[in-house]
Amino acid sequence: MSNIALNIEGLSKTYPGEVKALKNISLQVESGDFYALLGPNGAGKSTAIGIISSLVTKTSGLVEILGIDIDKNHSLAKKKLGVVGQEVNFNQFETVYQVLSHQAGYYGMSSKEVVKNTHYYLKALGLWDKRNEQGRNLSGGMKRRLMVAKALVNNPDLLILDEPSAGVDIELRRSLWDFLKEINNQGTTIILTTHYLEEAEKLCKNISIIDEGSIVKTSSMNSLLNELETQNYLFELKNSISSELDNSGFDFNFINDRQISINVSKKNSLNEVIRFFSENNIEVVNMTNETNRLEELFLNLTNKK
Ligand code: ADP
Repeated sequence: MSNIALNIEGLSKTYPGEVKALKNISLQVESGDFYALLGPNGAGKSTAIGIISSLVTKTSGLVEILGIDIDKNHSLAKKKLGVVGQEVNFNQFETVYQVLSHQAGYYGMSSKEVVKNTHYYLKALGLWDKRNEQGRNLSGGMKRRLMVAKALVNNPDLLILDEPSAGVDIELRRSLWDFLKEINNQGTTIILTTHYLEEAEKLCKNISIIDEGSIVKTSSMNSLLNELETQNYLFELKNSISSELDNSGFDFNFINDRQISINVSKKNSLNEVIRFFSENNIEVVNMTNETNRLEELFLNLTNKK
């Protein structure tokens, strides 16, 4: 088995009307990775996923799934891949059970395997109690879970999710995240697109940032976060703040009389701020890191600050 789950080389897509949605992008995702393709609306993320899943024809470039060229062996490549798109993609008049078992059958599994996988994924995604319900009667969150189950029912090596948290409530988001982490730990390679920055940070090991059809950065999540210059901290104080803070030499931002925030650069240690508080008998009751680090990084990279 190839240790590269997804290989993209020189991929371009120009839609009719000369919209250049992808401009010569290349990326490699190793087997076992949890990878984010992060970018704002219109960056080209859905186009890339459409091409990988053969729903959109590319203008030029190479796409290999587990070493299989999608142009040369489309049906084998498709067996290795599960895709969860943004639009509902199942027959809403079928029961939840039928949606899964028909999909499993479509991949040519034995009837025993179809039953086994259908049962397994209905349970794994909390849909077992709804198995006899028509798809159209499910809540939005359950429809999304059924789409995930449908993408996984043939045990693909590579799972791609397009904006998995869009329109999903917090509870489902958390349980979906836990589930994705678990199947990734068990060996499934996962790629997700998101403009929801916290999601990439919480889940992903590696990341490519895409903007206006080009990849502007590819990095491990850790080293990307380490590149950041400043952290923003919010301090809650026990007593009202007095004027000595104005002469502190730190760049305090007064939010109200008991809350201040401060940007601490990597060069300055947080210790110095804490020492200042303690020397001036200012009691801190809470401190939180308010930095939206990925957001800041993204703005730096794409020069939109
Ligand atoms: P994202 O998923 O990152 O929001 P998309 O891949 O949907 O980005 O879109 C990339 C660009 O391609 C946008 O400018 C979008 O308007 C354009 N686009 C997407 N689909 C089509 C289409 N079917 N026809 C013409 N232009 C399209």
